[in-house]
Amino acid sequence: MFQTFGDRITNWMKNPNQLYHRPFHVIENIYFVGTDWAAAYLLDTKEGLLLINSTMSETAPMMIESIKELGFDPKNIRKLLITHGHFDHCGGARAVQELSGCEIWLGKHDEFFFTDRRDMILFEDHVPEFRITNFYDYKGVIDFGGVRIKPVHCPGHTPGTTSLFFDIQHKGETLSCGLHGGIGSSFLARDTLSRIGVPLSVRDTYLDSIEKVRDIRVDVVLPAYPGIFIGHDFWGISEADDGSGDGFIDSEAWGRMLDAKRDEILALMLREEEEL
Ligand SMILES: [Zn+2]
Repeated sequence: MFQTFGDRITNWMKNPNQLYHRPFHVIENIYFVGTDWAAAYLLDTKEGLLLINSTMSETAPMMIESIKELGFDPKNIRKLLITHGHFDHCGGARAVQELSGCEIWLGKHDEFFFTDRRDMILFEDHVPEFRITNFYDYKGVIDFGGVRIKPVHCPGHTPGTTSLFFDIQHKGETLSCGLHGGIGSSFLARDTLSRIGVPLSVRDTYLDSIEKVRDIRVDVVLPAYPGIFIGHDFWGISEADDGSGDGFIDSEAWGRMLDAKRDEILALMLREEEEL
């Protein structure tokens, strides 16, 4: 048994093949190409491929093979959108950029991870440097190949965490897709925050960010960690799907996920208060 989550990650880095997950079609032009842990999504557009997140550097070759397995050429990736500056989303960015010459988008508030505070990337020695070409404009949309992606700033998990929303047309209907850019709350315990030198107020920031996107309509949730997506069995749905993608439509899943995360952090804060 592994002692800590950090030990588990180190083990994954040594044996990345254990994180293999088969790539699959989600719905319309959206494909899952990530790992059993961190997700990556590929959007096939009229102007080329757009990739959301790049998993760890160790699993990037696996992700690139998954893209090929689905019949796409990874050299056609034009944009890589990173939802926050942690190693398990940006670790593969260098490999993808070297292969395709793609733009790399990041939240401006995470830029300092890559300039002054590489330690904030976590496992930073495992993240080869890459060229950040664009920062999200929270007042605008990324208009690419017929897809209009709306970035929303959701600070808390990291200062620059960015959630992404876009519409697809499915069987004559407009459906909204949503990917929360960073919802992990495991580091928000008081002791952990004081150890890493982050003020307690980050928890309010985190809760405000949940509130900000809670009521956005999302019909198709693209989870950042499908294996721990609360209240929605993403893997199970992918196994049962008949190729239509209909099973992924669940307009309540987004709210369930965010409410669960909010309740989790409120319960943690209450427990800490009682301990005082
Ligand atoms: Zn993270």
